[in-house]
Amino acid sequence: MSIGIIGGGPGGLTLARVLRVNGVDAVVYERDASRAARSQGGSLDLHPETGQRALRLAGLEAEFLAMARPEGQDQRLLDQTGTVLLRQDVPDDVPMLRPEVDRADLRDVLLDSLPGAVVWGREFEQATPLPDGGWRAHFADGGTADHDLIVGADGVWSRVRPLVTEARPRHSGVNYVEGVIPDPDPSLAARLGRGSYMALGEGQIVSTQRVRDGSYRVSFTVQTPEDWLSTVPFDDPAKVRAVLMDLFAGWAPELLALADACVGGFEGRSLHLLPVGVTWASVPGVTLVGDAAHLMPPVGEGANHAMLDGAELALALAGGDQDEAVKQYETAMFERTAAVARRTTKIFEMLLAPDGAQRLLAFFTGHAEK
Ligand SMILES: Cc1cc2nc3c(=O)[nH]c(=O)nc-3n(C[C@H](O)[C@H](O)[C@H](O)COP(=O)(O)OP(=O)(O)OC[C@H]3O[C@@H](n4cnc5c(N)ncnc54)[C@H](O)[C@@H]3O)c2cc1C
Repeated sequence: MSIGIIGGGPGGLTLARVLRVNGVDAVVYERDASRAARSQGGSLDLHPETGQRALRLAGLEAEFLAMARPEGQDQRLLDQTGTVLLRQDVPDDVPMLRPEVDRADLRDVLLDSLPGAVVWGREFEQATPLPDGGWRAHFADGGTADHDLIVGADGVWSRVRPLVTEARPRHSGVNYVEGVIPDPDPSLAARLGRGSYMALGEGQIVSTQRVRDGSYRVSFTVQTPEDWLSTVPFDDPAKVRAVLMDLFAGWAPELLALADACVGGFEGRSLHLLPVGVTWASVPGVTLVGDAAHLMPPVGEGANHAMLDGAELALALAGGDQDEAVKQYETAMFERTAAVARRTTKIFEMLLAPDGAQRLLAFFTGHAEK
């Protein structure tokens, strides 16, 4: 069985690693020129039953424990007046329910466990069916590769996805402006905590997240149209700050000051989503994992389920007939991820509601009581 995985994110690399652990080789084709080609962004919380389980199946439990930051479970919830509604500072020996790991660390651990598996700088364009079964992958550099199975692990704008479904991501009405505070002074770091800090109000969010090197990633979430980002003068940080001051007028000065504390400019990011519960009739020799299959609101589940997809598909493939394995994986994945997509959609709507802070507080408190 010859397997080509398109995309070396959490889903594709976990798939390749669990296959390897089970004696099956696969090639990962990654568009990035090298592992250092692009910043991997902030951190992710890995959950026991999904992301952590996938790493156990990948034989990477020790590596997980070495990179996990349990103190990343600290939480601060505020409203736009700066009133702290919830503050959780977890003890050092807190259980690893949702520890944070840096995306870069996770990618490094997976890559280090897969020597020789990744072909860098190989951008997939399309695949054509071969007469005797399988697919020919065509790459932007003009090269091709034939495989019995092609797995699209190529994220939001998956080019493998059209082989199985007509579903396409749509803009969610939400955009982000993001910056970095590389070296906060101790009082600011104490205020923001070691995990996530989030102020909600009027359908907008100011949030920060600490990463392992002590820097903070700052995010301003706004509900603006898809083309709004192109109107923001990202080449001039002072003008971006002015745009943010305008959008967040009336918010507490200490929340607005987070924009001033960002160093090195800002980046914009739009949020696209797939409809909840995308399914398809199984197509021989091709399937999807992760965001390519089920792009859901970013409330801490996407990477976890991408990794579990990869692990479960690998186990199914290692156990038997390729087409049956793919069908078995897809059936279970559709059911599991549709439920998560429904739940994350509700949570995301709650965060963006005018009274999001109070609703999230009630949600957290309800969970704590349970
Ligand atoms: C702001 C934000 C915060 C988030 N926080 C969390 C969190 O805390 N916890 C969590 O579980 N999830 C979180 N997520 C979701 C998570 O980032 C994604 O669900 C996860 O990265 C999906 O993994 P993936 O492997 O499917 O795709 P990706 O991580 O997108 O990886 C796809 C890979 O494919 C490559 N690629 C793309 N196109 C091609 C091509 N044509 N040819 C070759 N290679 C290609 C890309 O370069 C990339 O390396 C968050 C998302 C956002 C936007």
